Amino acid sequence: MANTYCDSCMMPFAKDPGLRESERYCSLCFKSGKLCYEGDDLKAFQRVCHESMIQRGTNKFLAKFYTFMIRFAPRWKNHR
Ligand SMILES: [Zn+2]
Repeated sequence: MANTYCDSCMMPFAKDPGLRESERYCSLCFKSGKLCYEGDDLKAFQRVCHESMIQRGTNKFLAKFYTFMIRFAPRWKNHR
């Protein structure tokens, strides 16, 4: 079954601003053949995503909500 959301950050692929390389991850999480954030620290990853969303002009409340949702992504299932 094809994913609709990024396994790492929960972004719907329909909203992906870039060109996706991976079936599982969005273009922001997975670039040039590897994950942009390779660590396993959920909080650190959330900070990176939040910052990137603010930089892309995402509404502050939405950015906070999306960041919160990341903990439910398959990638972080065992890291919370
Ligand atoms: Zn992603």
